[in-house]
Amino acid sequence: MNNTERRLATAVLVIGTGGSGLRAAIELAETGVDVIAVGKRPRLDAHTSLAAGGINAALGTIDPADTWQQHAADTITESYFLANPYTVEVVTRGAEEGIRDLERYGMAFARETDGRISQRFFGAHTWRRTALAGDYTGLEIQRALVARVEQLRVPIFEGIYITRLLVRDNAVFGAYGFDVADGTRYLIHADAVILAAGGARPADATTAATTRTSTRRSRSTSSGHRRAA
Ligand SMILES: Cc1cc2nc3c(=O)[nH]c(=O)nc-3n(C[C@H](O)[C@H](O)[C@H](O)COP(=O)(O)OP(=O)(O)OC[C@H]3O[C@@H](n4cnc5c(N)ncnc54)[C@H](O)[C@@H]3O)c2cc1C
Repeated sequence: MNNTERRLATAVLVIGTGGSGLRAAIELAETGVDVIAVGKRPRLDAHTSLAAGGINAALGTIDPADTWQQHAADTITESYFLANPYTVEVVTRGAEEGIRDLERYGMAFARETDGRISQRFFGAHTWRRTALAGDYTGLEIQRALVARVEQLRVPIFEGIYITRLLVRDNAVFGAYGFDVADGTRYLIHADAVILAAGGARPADATTAATTRTSTRRSRSTSSGHRRAA
């Protein structure tokens, strides 16, 4: 058994190195905050890398009539009114800025001959608003985010499985985990922790529906949700 323990300290610890975790790390690093990112898989292997269809934003490059308000309305309708309206507003209102940020990080979006970002229809859209990079949009997003994180010299710790959030007096002050390759334990102290560990199949996913239909059932283990609980 490997008894080695590494101790790290940072202002902000981001758990998860998919699109959301890397994007959060970039935002912090660009404002001068000390941040490290930890993921249980290699940096280019996250669900984000598998997204093939594209990324939605009411840019209006092809259909100028599109607006973020229409994007929000389409999203709420398609969610059968289950989506949180505030979350939908934040996402749809900020989607164009998100695309511009990805451009700034060097993402190679598909473009029209005159340089406009191409947009196509996708599920439930009133107007063409899906931006894409071939059939590998997610991989290109992940690549662009990783490149920007590396440019900003944010340390990425790969293959570290976080097993526990450190909590005292109801305040999270870090996390504990281990290196899945050699068993080295990691004790990470942080002033703040961002949990960006991705989506989940149900923690008790034993039914045929959840075990047969999940596209990534071996990886989507709800471990982040369990840490939060
Ligand atoms: C096949 C497929 C196709 C998709 N197509 C589209 C599409 O066309 N358009 C679209 O908008 N969306 C699409 N999606 C959804 C989209 O990819 C996800 O919603 C998005 O990428 C989630 O990003 P995330 O950063 O939250 O999670 P993830 O990309 O899943 O990243 C989670 C990160 O957390 C890490 N992690 C988890 N648990 C731990 C732990 N305990 N310790 C340490 N690290 C941990 C993982 O290793 C990973 O780095 C698709 C998803 C899939 C699977």
